[in-house]
Amino acid sequence: MKITFPHLGNTCYAAKAVFDGLGIDYVLPPQSNKKCLELGSLYSPEEMCLPFKIMMGGYIESIRNGADTVLITGSCGPCRFGEYCELQMNLLKKLGYNVNFIVLDKPSAIGKEEFFRRISKISNESSLSINQKLKTLYKAYRIINLLDYIEKEAHKKAGYEANLGDCKKILRNCKKEAFSYNEPDKLLEFLKLCKNKIDNVKLDKEKHPLKIAIIGEIYTIIEPFSNFYIEDKLMDYGVSTSRHLSPSWWFKDAMLSILKLNSIDLRFNSRKYLPYYIGGHARECIGEAVMSSHSDFDGAIQIFPLGCMPEIVAKSILPKISKDENFPILSLIVDEMTGEAGYITRIEAFIDLLERRENNVLHGC
Ligand code: SF4
Repeated sequence: MKITFPHLGNTCYAAKAVFDGLGIDYVLPPQSNKKCLELGSLYSPEEMCLPFKIMMGGYIESIRNGADTVLITGSCGPCRFGEYCELQMNLLKKLGYNVNFIVLDKPSAIGKEEFFRRISKISNESSLSINQKLKTLYKAYRIINLLDYIEKEAHKKAGYEANLGDCKKILRNCKKEAFSYNEPDKLLEFLKLCKNKIDNVKLDKEKHPLKIAIIGEIYTIIEPFSNFYIEDKLMDYGVSTSRHLSPSWWFKDAMLSILKLNSIDLRFNSRKYLPYYIGGHARECIGEAVMSSHSDFDGAIQIFPLGCMPEIVAKSILPKISKDENFPILSLIVDEMTGEAGYITRIEAFIDLLERRENNVLHGC
């Protein structure tokens, strides 16, 4: 078995650590890029959402590099994600690629027994003892938590840094160098050093940057290529950003869903506007919009792929929240045809609007 997996933000570091630690053969997929998108778009149904196309492109590249098994997370929810694996399997078969899929779904959706049966398909490939396997999984869990923490702090502190670019530099070097470690223990040590650096970045307490919440469809907000590296761009503008959804959040949410204790805050805050789960992370998006309007954020940016059913519903609700809470929200839709220049112009116009609002408040207009 030679496993590959789709890129989804920082998950690739944890997946790499698991396979390195367990001694399982794998193909690291290429970073999501234009070539992946073009390749995926060529072989995917035109109306299919962007994550599907980028993933398809990545699989094809990995299969060409020797992968024979694809590991993905799944969803039995009502949106297309529940059909991703079936469709991708069929498309790859038509292209002449005979690969296996292992779909890791929430235990609450497929049952604990089935969940562990799927996990054992992978873990049986390793000759380590159960104890060593569990230790490796725990290390991967710490890795993803550390990386998500470093990223979150870098995005938050970018608005306050004394030397413009410090946070971005630490984050970029951390992510780049992390790929060079093939032993989970060494990677953990390295990440602790990066955490120390971001914790001690020099801040200017006199600064009052704009604070923007990044909300929307989980793939497009976590995978930087699909959102034109929006968080990096906002760092360059000296804006402080925060994103609730992350791979470590997803993992905790999946585990807590067994006890139905997941996302209590988001469910509570979304129930006035969207009391049901409609697939994807629409309910989380609404909950986050409400929560950020009640905290010290100046606005929120919702990002989702063209044709994303749950987020279209969320988008139709957001203007009501915006009006009720006097809270600006910008919706950005991305697909393979999105032009970067127009996308950036909209972000800059939104920042202008937030700055003007801030100035009006300061001058009592
Ligand atoms: S949440 Fe949206 S983008 Fe993601 S799979 Fe579902 S429809 Fe597609």
